[in-house]
Amino acid sequence: MSIYKIAVAEGDGIGPEVVGASMDVLNFLLERIFSDVKINFNEVEVGWNGLKSQGSSLPNESVRSMEACDGLILGPLDVGRYPAGDPGGPSPSGRIRKHFDLFANIRPILSYGINSCYPDGDVDLVIVRENTEGFYADRNMFMGSGEFMPTKDVAMSMRVVTRKGCERVIREAFRIASTRRQHVTAVHKGNVLKVSDGLFLQVFDEISKEFPSTRSDDKIVDAMAFDILRSPQKYDVIVTTNMFGDILSDEAAGIAGSLGLTPSLNSGENYAMAQAVHGSAPDIAGKGISNPIAEILSCSMLLEWLGQRNKDLSLVKMSDMIRVAVRKTIKKRENLTPDIGGNGNTKSVTGSIISNIEGA
Ligand code: NAD
Repeated sequence: MSIYKIAVAEGDGIGPEVVGASMDVLNFLLERIFSDVKINFNEVEVGWNGLKSQGSSLPNESVRSMEACDGLILGPLDVGRYPAGDPGGPSPSGRIRKHFDLFANIRPILSYGINSCYPDGDVDLVIVRENTEGFYADRNMFMGSGEFMPTKDVAMSMRVVTRKGCERVIREAFRIASTRRQHVTAVHKGNVLKVSDGLFLQVFDEISKEFPSTRSDDKIVDAMAFDILRSPQKYDVIVTTNMFGDILSDEAAGIAGSLGLTPSLNSGENYAMAQAVHGSAPDIAGKGISNPIAEILSCSMLLEWLGQRNKDLSLVKMSDMIRVAVRKTIKKRENLTPDIGGNGNTKSVTGSIISNIEGA
């Protein structure tokens, strides 16, 4: 029997609801269908839970527990509201990405024909975002911050683009495309950022030669911001630097119909973290109406990553079964949450997803 360890941090706001729903789905599969797989889930404190009990939104003890696991399920964090001077830093998610060197943030965007002007299945693209450098001041320096003020009226932000950072995320984009429609588009602002995005494009060109059967092209980020809404069907895999990917993937969540439908996986060589694209949604926290689908699909991505890495077909099958059950639930409009026009709630839609699992 294969035994895995996954750390679980429920996060803030709607985190306990959406992570709780994901655990219900995973536990159902493990208890009722996949008796050959054992996953030990280790709860860890991140966010307000860590601040309250240990004075940090990312306690060292939690990081040590994560290190002892094969991967992490992380709920959304209320980063905008943590107190100044929090030793967890401005973004615990960013620190986790840096600590485990999770260089690729993989964000699939699908249209489900619901709460969206794109018909079901019409859009199917993946945004692969560089995750460890770029403009992100909390993670792009070895020491100190990438943002500083030389005088009280001058603020500066450093953008870091390295050959290594480009190579690994671009190669991951081509790897993903090779399992899909074999088309990768690099997004950049090389017409203005001639040096940094010039390096990104140079590396893109070099790596594209390693994948001769994959079509490669590029687009300037402002043109892409328009085109991803006008003709998203044209794209298969989009690869870009950190901040462009962050913004474009939230924009593309509009194609899916809700932030509650957009999953993501942060992956590195040896570790991966499931965390939905959305935040802690304080406007609906505690009402029991948050959409758990994004977090559930993020967990499905983590299972697939673990399964491929360990050549464990049961995990890959589990991941597929979750995706299919979510699709069925959306197609049947069964107990969907209000963000996508339904009258259901977090618990009822989770129940429907479980009942739509093949063999349930
Ligand atoms: P948000 O993603 O939390 O919410 C934006 C809107 O989308 C809200 O109206 C919310 O109700 C809705 N929404 C989000 N997820 C939903 C879901 N699963 N189901 C139904 N509706 C959903 O963004 P925000 O309001 O700008 O940020 C709130 C907090 O979250 C801030 O502290 C911010 O810093 C933080 N944040 C964290 C992450 C993360 O941890 N990955 C990402 C983005 C924002």
